[in-house]
Amino acid sequence: AAKADGGNQFAVFARHMRERAILRGGLQADLRNAIERGELYTVYQPVVGLLDDGRIDRAAGVEALVRWRHPLRGEVGPSEFIGIAEDCGLIGAIGEQVLAMACADFARWRRQLGANAPRLLAVNLSRAQLNQSGLCERVSAIMAANGMEPGSLQLEITESLAAQGRDIQDQLLGLKALGVKLALDDFGTGYSSLSSLHLLPVDTVKIDRSFITLAATSRHHEVLIEATVKVARSLGMNTVAEGIETPQQAAVVSAQGCDKGQGYLYSRPLSGAAIEQWLITSAPPPSRA
Ligand code: C2E
Ligand code: MG
Ligand code: MG
Ligand code: MG
Repeated sequence: AAKADGGNQFAVFARHMRERAILRGGLQADLRNAIERGELYTVYQPVVGLLDDGRIDRAAGVEALVRWRHPLRGEVGPSEFIGIAEDCGLIGAIGEQVLAMACADFARWRRQLGANAPRLLAVNLSRAQLNQSGLCERVSAIMAANGMEPGSLQLEITESLAAQGRDIQDQLLGLKALGVKLALDDFGTGYSSLSSLHLLPVDTVKIDRSFITLAATSRHHEVLIEATVKVARSLGMNTVAEGIETPQQAAVVSAQGCDKGQGYLYSRPLSGAAIEQWLITSAPPPSRA
């Protein structure tokens, strides 16, 4: 019976793998078309400044997040297709499209929203993009085409990516030379650590949501956030707390000195039109004496 069960389990497993492969293959073909047909679009999540008095600065920045309006499947999220795009060589084209769309929206907000316009635009970069030659030139051209001040663009990389070798470091330094800001995304989940932060040419550390989720109930995680903020500060970097969902979590990360926050408490990712509304209906940031 055990053998029969094992065989049966294998059949189930094999079918599962086959279905996955078909799904991936299908998405891969569809993804090529998606780029040409304009099925990819960006949503934006506010990144708010956490002020000392407990209020927030809504115009601190926004992060662009890619979405795919699939003709049959509906909205597909990046966790389902960024990996596929990397494997089949489409990530460069997707990354460029996302950056161009986000820069165009950002430039329009700067023209139209005055003091309510976000001051920083964050865009994610994948590992495969950082391996590509000519990345700096393409980023520079897209910024120029949209009249972006270099300091208003932040490119986000993940820890595993940043821990790579010499080529990646050179690429990061090339981006820095353009005046672009760099952020280390999902900090705390990968292999690099507080002791190697100083090796990376980043301006900002984004503390992963998993720490923030536990911050209000676990003293251990609160201490880890505190330590990260201290080390980042000592290196001249600022910090963003990711995935803030409750006022309690916001209070803890503020008390520990995080400069900015992002999460459903403030807003979910919104369409370009909806975030415009979110930005302009808000009270203007308090004037600092
Ligand atoms: P990320 O850069 O760390 O982005 C934050 C993710 O957390 C987003 O998921 C966002 O919707 C989600 N999030 C924000 N606040 C909360 C919260 O309070 N609670 C919870 N549960 N989730 C929250 P999303 O949009 O699904 O993106 C997932 C990841 O996909 C991103 O993580 C980023 O690594 C990658 N990604 C997104 N857009 C792009 C892109 O244009 N290019 C590349 N290469 N990667 C992208
Ligand atoms: Mg990010
Ligand atoms: Mg993140
Ligand atoms: Mg994340």
